[in-house]
Amino acid sequence: MNNNPAIATPARTQAILNRYNLSAKKSLGQNFLTDLNILTQITEAAELTSNDNVIEIGPGIGGLTEQLAQRAGHVLAFEIDQNLIPVLAETLAPYDNVTVLNQDILQANLPDTTKEIFGTDEGLKVVANLPYYITTPIVMDLIQNPVQFANIVVMMQKEVAERLTATPRQKAYGSLSVIVQQLTVPEIAFTVPNTAFIPSPKVDSAIVRLLPADPSKPQPYSQKRFIGFVRGCFMHRRKSIWNNLQGVFGKDATTKAVIKQGLEQLNIDAGVRPEELTVAQFVALTDKYHELGLLK
Ligand code: SAM
Repeated sequence: MNNNPAIATPARTQAILNRYNLSAKKSLGQNFLTDLNILTQITEAAELTSNDNVIEIGPGIGGLTEQLAQRAGHVLAFEIDQNLIPVLAETLAPYDNVTVLNQDILQANLPDTTKEIFGTDEGLKVVANLPYYITTPIVMDLIQNPVQFANIVVMMQKEVAERLTATPRQKAYGSLSVIVQQLTVPEIAFTVPNTAFIPSPKVDSAIVRLLPADPSKPQPYSQKRFIGFVRGCFMHRRKSIWNNLQGVFGKDATTKAVIKQGLEQLNIDAGVRPEELTVAQFVALTDKYHELGLLK
C-alpha cells in the first residue's frame, strides 16, 4: 500500500527536488507535470487498461510514470539523465510493474528491448511528456519504428502539435504534417496551460494522439523515399512545386521534361506551392517519379 501523496503534486515534486538537491535541467527539457487532472486526462486519451504494455519517454521524477503504473500492466521508461535514476528507484518503489532504463530514447532498440521486457512488441502504447528540444526526432522515430504502436499519446509544444495536424494551405502545413498524416492519424486531444509544470515552460503545450493509419489507404512504393521526397518538396515553401522539384531532381533539360510530364499526368499545376498539395498528391507524386525513373 502506498500512503504517499501522488508524485505529481506541486508540494511532493518540490519536496523530491529539494531532498535530492536537484534543479530541472533546461538542456534536457525537464519540465515536471504537477497537475493530476491533466495526468488523468492523458491516461484517458491513451485508453489504458491493465492489459497494456506502455513505453514512457523521459519519466523525470516519476509523476506520469506513477499514474501509468496504477492503470497499465507494465511500464517501460527510458530516462537519459543518470542523476534521476536513484530518484526514480525511490519514488517508484511502491510499483513492481515499472522498468526504468538509463538510455537515450533516440539510441534505443525498441523491437529488441520491448520483446525482452514485455515479452512482446505488439499492441504497445507510448505515453510521454516529451523533452521538447527533440520532439520531432522522437515522433519521427516512433512513427517509422518497426514496432507498431496501438496509440501514441504525447505532450509537445502546441506549435509543433499544430504542424502535425495542419491541413493544406494552413500556415503550419509542411513536410512534417504530410509525413505524419500519411503514417498515422494525428489529433490534438487537448491543450495544457504552462502553469501545469514545474518549472513552467515558456511555450504552450498540447497533448497529441497518434493512431495507426488506415491500412487500406494507398502507400507509397517506399516509405523512406517518400519521406525524403516530401522534405525536398518543402525546401522552399514560398516557391512553386515546379521550382522545388528542380531542387530535388535537377535542372537539366531532360530532368525538367520528366518533372513536367509527372505533374501533367497527375493534373497538378506546376505553379502551385507545395503547401497547396494534399498528402495523397505527395504519395501519387512519389510513385509517379519512381515510375518515370527520377526516384530509385
Ligand atoms: N515525465 C516527467 C513529467 O511529466 O513530469 C518529465 C518530463 S520532462 C518534459 C522530459 C524528460 O525527458 C526529462 O526527465 C528528461 O531528462 C528526459 N529526456 C531528455 N532527453 C531524453 C532522451 N534523449 N531520452 C530519454 N529521456 C530524455
